[in-house]
Amino acid sequence: MASRSKALAALCERADACDRDDSLAPLRAEFLFPQGPGGDVAYLCGNSLGLQPRATRAALQGELDDWQRLGVEGHFHARNPWYSYHEPFAAPLGRLLGASPLEVVAMGSLTSTLHALLISFYRPSGRRTKIAMEEAAFPSDRYALASHLRLHGQDPDAAALVLRPRPGEAQLRTEDVLATLRRHGDEVALIMLGAVHYYTGQLHDMKAITAAGHAIGACVGWDLAHAAGNVELQLHDWGVDFAVGCSYKYLNSGPGSVGIAFVHDRHAMAPELPRLAGWWGNDAATRFAMPESFQPAAGAVGWQQSNAPVFAMAPLRVSLELFDRATMPALRRKSLALTGLLAEGLQLLLDAHPGAFEILTPADPAARGAQLSLLLPGRAAGLAAALQAAGVIADLRRPDVIRVAPAPLYCRFADVARALQVVADFLAAEGR
Ligand SMILES: *Cc1c(COP(=O)(O)O)cnc(C)c1O
Repeated sequence: MASRSKALAALCERADACDRDDSLAPLRAEFLFPQGPGGDVAYLCGNSLGLQPRATRAALQGELDDWQRLGVEGHFHARNPWYSYHEPFAAPLGRLLGASPLEVVAMGSLTSTLHALLISFYRPSGRRTKIAMEEAAFPSDRYALASHLRLHGQDPDAAALVLRPRPGEAQLRTEDVLATLRRHGDEVALIMLGAVHYYTGQLHDMKAITAAGHAIGACVGWDLAHAAGNVELQLHDWGVDFAVGCSYKYLNSGPGSVGIAFVHDRHAMAPELPRLAGWWGNDAATRFAMPESFQPAAGAVGWQQSNAPVFAMAPLRVSLELFDRATMPALRRKSLALTGLLAEGLQLLLDAHPGAFEILTPADPAARGAQLSLLLPGRAAGLAAALQAAGVIADLRRPDVIRVAPAPLYCRFADVARALQVVADFLAAEGR
């Protein structure tokens, strides 16, 4: 292959060696892969929609069978009783997020859960009305935050404290975030950021920003959509007030699957916090006594509104078992190596084709997760098509960005090498 430089060839050989040494490699067999030219695709898109675990079909079938067999009796007599279906999720979700079982629950969807928690945790009063948010936050988060500002009679343009990268830079600097928070100290009611930015792939210093938020007397929430199952989290120890996530990206629970909520245990009962109550958030001991007034259950479950969406949650049960088998520290180690190899290969290509693309993601491995975001003005769609044609699935963010995210549960180092080869061929064909 003409475009295969010696350096890239050596890197591909190293990739094969890494796969042979990878203690997590057997987990790949637990997943089902879309087929492309030459068999399994190289699936580098787990940041958008994770792959289906093999065991998911049987888990769903099991719930359907129990429903067929038991009807309403399944609430108590299903193999995983639906009445208490959410309870066994607490321990593995806690391990995933660095939280106690009391602090986590699978519920709703990401955006609906964000709304439910904003009711409790955005409490403007007096001068303290602002929400600190990212300029380029995910649209759903921006809409949700703006709608809560309006609900409280605030002008979203005036009450949003927008955190922006410096001119010409793609990422927010932690020092700038902290300085802005200090400058606006007594005006900020809430800080709400994406832990890993969906577009740039930047992983924020969650511990430092959470501490800075508390130092100015604000509440701090995180969106974990791109962080859960991707990076190691210590939500409890960092003192995070609340967080939301989804389970269909790195958590492989299928399209539109159930959301995730974290509420720090210092808020576990907090009767003074307003909330959008529903019967599944009521204390389980009195739920079916159907009390006149809401008696919140202790912990994050007290924010649940409806009974568990069993068909959305069965895949998450399967997924959490895989994460428990792998463990987050081991996954993160492999992730750092996989994405490190990708970054190294891309740098080789940039050395050969200066200026051919830009990497928007921080170069510091501690400031990113699995994903690297490539900026190629005017040429991203072309590269995406070339990747697709070669059986490499990455994620085109129109107009100019391709997100490449090797998820360590099922990606091989060889998948990264395969993607690099396609990029090398693409750049060579451009004749740059
Ligand atoms: C994926 C994603 C969402 C999606 O929200 P849903 O309610 O699950 O549709 C929201 N916010 C961020 C930051 C995301 O990355």
